[in-house]
Amino acid sequence: MKKIFIVTFIIVLMISCSVINFQSADKDLVYRIPTVNNNVCKTLRGHVILYAIFVDSKETKPWTEYDIFSAMDSVNSAINWIEEQALQDSIFLNIDLVCHENEGVIPIDNKLARKNLTPTLFGQSSASGIKSVDKWADMIAKTAAKSLGPDTSKITRTKIQPLDRDKLVARLRDIYKTDNVALMYFINNYYTDEVSVALHTAEDYNIEYAVVSFKNTPVIAHEFLHLFGALDLYIAPWDKDRQGRKKKKFAMQEFPNEIMAFPYRKIEKLEISPFTKYLIGWQDKMDDRYKDMILGKKINVESY
Ligand SMILES: [Zn+2]
Repeated sequence: MKKIFIVTFIIVLMISCSVINFQSADKDLVYRIPTVNNNVCKTLRGHVILYAIFVDSKETKPWTEYDIFSAMDSVNSAINWIEEQALQDSIFLNIDLVCHENEGVIPIDNKLARKNLTPTLFGQSSASGIKSVDKWADMIAKTAAKSLGPDTSKITRTKIQPLDRDKLVARLRDIYKTDNVALMYFINNYYTDEVSVALHTAEDYNIEYAVVSFKNTPVIAHEFLHLFGALDLYIAPWDKDRQGRKKKKFAMQEFPNEIMAFPYRKIEKLEISPFTKYLIGWQDKMDDRYKDMILGKKINVESY
């Protein structure tokens, strides 16, 4: 084992959803999976803030009071379920839901470049689609950060000005005294076939966030776990690679109740597989059997 390398894998950036194609592996090296222990949401342990922002626009359905409360119920159910899973593994985890509000008003108004999430992400090249959604997310973050009031810290030289989601997360870390801030945007699109996504989970210069289109507990939990490094284990229509499909098929058979494979089932029937537990930092080492079948025999994966 010589050196730790970050591996590039073919990632369908759009859906944050990908597994896991190491193009060529050197068995003498130890590799790090790019979503693991990375960016703002590193490992899912300790005190975590789930910062929820409800977003209105003319094109999406308006957030009514009833919709907001029922979506918050779903977020709380997702949090309770994840905390219960952590407890079963003796992991200390306390997730607090903080919902953006300004003088009692919860939604922030901002429209997506192509009206809705799917056309904005998929209606142009993937880089332009993600850029458009980033711009949308940054504008909202700027409004949200303003409502937190001025940065009054005394021991710093530079006060944080609200500009984008980077600054919003910096303020939230300061206010809630934790590194772990999971930024989630909620749009009210539950009647349509909109996607939900987690973006930038494998990067470390562009803060990760999720956009959730459904007030559906397992989908919320699934996107939240992406922010902490989990990868998709279902076969999607855009998975054209035969090897990749074979690996995902193995994962779906091996983990028949896995939340990263079956996010549209009832949450009570789902669980977090050992493979995902490694990715989110609940297991120090990846089990060799899963590593061999999902990542490949030649890959040596870094332990925490
Ligand atoms: Zn996913």
